[in-house]
Amino acid sequence: MTNAQTTTAKTFDVEKIRRDFPSLNQSVYGKPLVYLDNAATAQKPNAVIDVTEHYYRVVNANIHRGVHRLSQLATDAYEGAREKIRNFINAEKASEIIYTRGCTEAINLVAATYGRQNVGAGDEVLITEMEHHSNIVPWQALCEEKGATLRVAPVNERGEVELEAFERMIGERTKIVAFAHQSNSLGTINPAKEMTRMAREKGAATLIDGAQSIPHFRVDVRDLGCDFYAFSAHKMYGPTGSGALYGREELLESMPPYQLGGDMISAVSFEKTTYNKLPYKFEAGTPNIAGGIGFGAAVDYVESIGIDEIERYERELSDYAWEKLRAIEGLRIIGTAEDRGAVFSFVVEGAHAHDLATILDVEGVAVRAGHLCTQPILKKFGVPAVARAAVSLYNTREEIDRLVEAIEKAKRMLG
Ligand SMILES: *Cc1c(COP(=O)(O)O)cnc(C)c1O
Repeated sequence: MTNAQTTTAKTFDVEKIRRDFPSLNQSVYGKPLVYLDNAATAQKPNAVIDVTEHYYRVVNANIHRGVHRLSQLATDAYEGAREKIRNFINAEKASEIIYTRGCTEAINLVAATYGRQNVGAGDEVLITEMEHHSNIVPWQALCEEKGATLRVAPVNERGEVELEAFERMIGERTKIVAFAHQSNSLGTINPAKEMTRMAREKGAATLIDGAQSIPHFRVDVRDLGCDFYAFSAHKMYGPTGSGALYGREELLESMPPYQLGGDMISAVSFEKTTYNKLPYKFEAGTPNIAGGIGFGAAVDYVESIGIDEIERYERELSDYAWEKLRAIEGLRIIGTAEDRGAVFSFVVEGAHAHDLATILDVEGVAVRAGHLCTQPILKKFGVPAVARAAVSLYNTREEIDRLVEAIEKAKRMLG
């Protein structure tokens, strides 16, 4: 080993990383798969697959209260994963991590509990124009139910939140401010710490939708100062149907339970039920045990590479993709914010997004096409549908070249 190798133990080796993901090693329509639908869901490494399989093959038992050996093992693994997630986002206590089905359920949980408790007639909830439907509809429904108003902070032509307007829109009656850390369609990375500070100064609670940020760069909920942070496991190489809500203890303590049933109680009689302590108060019924354990394995996997290393590599690859895509005649990238992640939504002159994606698919290149669960912001940019390529830690420059070649081919076919 040379000195250089010993001192940079975490040197990023994309070929080695690719071997961790069995699903990448396949062909579609006779062409090696280029998977660029990472903003919808990421592929899974062996570490996650193995841990999940081990749970079902060996450990399978229900958690909590079980006195037998397997139940104890399952509980330890499930609660151990919670601690890994806590550490990953630098929350103070593991009891501030609530397991959910994903980011969507985490946002719904807050809207249905904190929201119902704290938002009344005449109050306001503030979101931004670039939100995912999951961070629009729960607030819209809450506001309708309560006679409150949903306000929407504008986004400029590059796809950045207009911060002055955002700040001005937070008033006395604003109870909740909710926004994405990184947009899934525009790629914009919002100045989440600054936006959180603006909301807190006016006494509003803050929820950050972290579905797109958590796999790509370091998230520190205490540094951000947010009250809630919602995210999914499956976009960061973990299992589907698994995610988490971070909530500050003080708020979680004050909130009513979300769902009612087993595990979330401490004592039940027909006259009166008392609720369990955090985090179990919000975790009624048998949860996705394998999903939680797999989530923990995904955190371990990311940390074994290093989230800062992942960010550095993805930024480099993203710069490469940016230059290549910008050079394609007739291609327009939707979302050109100064600070942006590795997500490229685009339209090509004369080609419908779905036709484009279908031709790319036959070339072995998997991208998403459609409204990306962000209809309002695409409407603002005057496009009903886009194609989206989203880069992950296992993608390569050769794959970006394959994407570009496939787009050129589609242009010839459709033009
Ligand atoms: C994917 C996504 C969601 C929803 O996540 P689920 O895993 O489907 O619950 C919410 N917000 C953003 C920005 C997303 O990208």
